Amino acid sequence: MKTVSLVGSTGSIGTQAVDVIRAMPGAYRVTALGAFRSVDALVAQAEELRPERVAIGLPELAEELAARLPAGTEVLVGVEALAAIAADADIVVNGVVGFAGLPVTLAALGSGRRLALANKESLIAGGPVVQAARTVPGAEIIPVDSEHCAVHQCLRSVLGGEAMAALPVLPAHHRIGRVVLTASGGPFRGRPAASLAEVTVAEALAHPTWSMGPKISVDSSTLMNKGLEVIEAHELFGVGYDAIEVVVHPQSIVHSMVETIDGATLAQLSLPDMRLPIGYALAYPDRTTSSFGAIDWGVLGRLDFEPPDLAGFPCLQLAYAAGRAGGTAPACLNGANEVAVEAFLNRRIRWVDIPAVINDALDDYAPIAPTSVADVLDADAAGRDLAGAAVERRSAAGIR
Ligand code: MG
Repeated sequence: MKTVSLVGSTGSIGTQAVDVIRAMPGAYRVTALGAFRSVDALVAQAEELRPERVAIGLPELAEELAARLPAGTEVLVGVEALAAIAADADIVVNGVVGFAGLPVTLAALGSGRRLALANKESLIAGGPVVQAARTVPGAEIIPVDSEHCAVHQCLRSVLGGEAMAALPVLPAHHRIGRVVLTASGGPFRGRPAASLAEVTVAEALAHPTWSMGPKISVDSSTLMNKGLEVIEAHELFGVGYDAIEVVVHPQSIVHSMVETIDGATLAQLSLPDMRLPIGYALAYPDRTTSSFGAIDWGVLGRLDFEPPDLAGFPCLQLAYAAGRAGGTAPACLNGANEVAVEAFLNRRIRWVDIPAVINDALDDYAPIAPTSVADVLDADAAGRDLAGAAVERRSAAGIR
């Protein structure tokens, strides 16, 4: 039986990971749970899963949590506690939202654990630092992002398991032509540019095919999620930016594709259900015995593909540019995006201002080659500060 530490256990990924574990009795034992603030949900999970340790990010909630947990459960407190429980188990699921997931990623890899990575921001912003941690014996990243899980499945059939373990270093004769990431296009696909200025928060949160948290739902609506995923694919698989493409596929059935140099395309298809990538990351190189993505071909109907609308959704190109710039540019991009999304959710800027704010931040930022976590934190802080200033300029100027 494998032990699992669920960090970000009460969020969308965490609760679906519990579904997967519940569906495979005897396969996994949850030894640690961690969340930032959701005491009720943590208590309910702890009563069912009986972990040894529970971490809570907000210190003021620790006393209430401790009083309600099953007797004998150890309570850890503070954001550093979320990283501390990442060293506890064979497999660490990082379902923390945003840049706050970086310490969890580094702790899991640094302890030589398997990291089931749903927190793409840590890999994107922390790039070079996370890659160094990935070389610790026993450390491995299995992506819990539907597109990258699909690429992982296609790549392993081309490269074999030994080469997968050496990623992001690709073998000399890898025969990979292109990685094609699919994008649903989000809720505003096909909407005329003029009407995008009127987008509301509720509309941005209503994703057509996936049920997700607010941050990633807004990122999907701007295509920044896909832009971040381009950088994520580069970091995970070592494929150059010129060989990573994005195609819009509104049904979210083809989760991504790998084209070999002879023009053959391998694709992974399943229903849009995050429990499949979560189960894949838990069971790899085996497969879970529970089916969460099986397709009913009699009712599936059609699969459509179209190029992304780069003019209406500039975030995708901003992410490519930051990825190609390299160094700390993706950290600045990510920090700026988190600030811009928050400002939109708080109704301080319009949806169309999100890429403008990020563009302003990147324009004013000079990336460096990071050699430490401190360098990454500095770049994230710079991205946040520059984006914060851009938000102030826009809301002060009455651009709403
Ligand atoms: Mg994804």
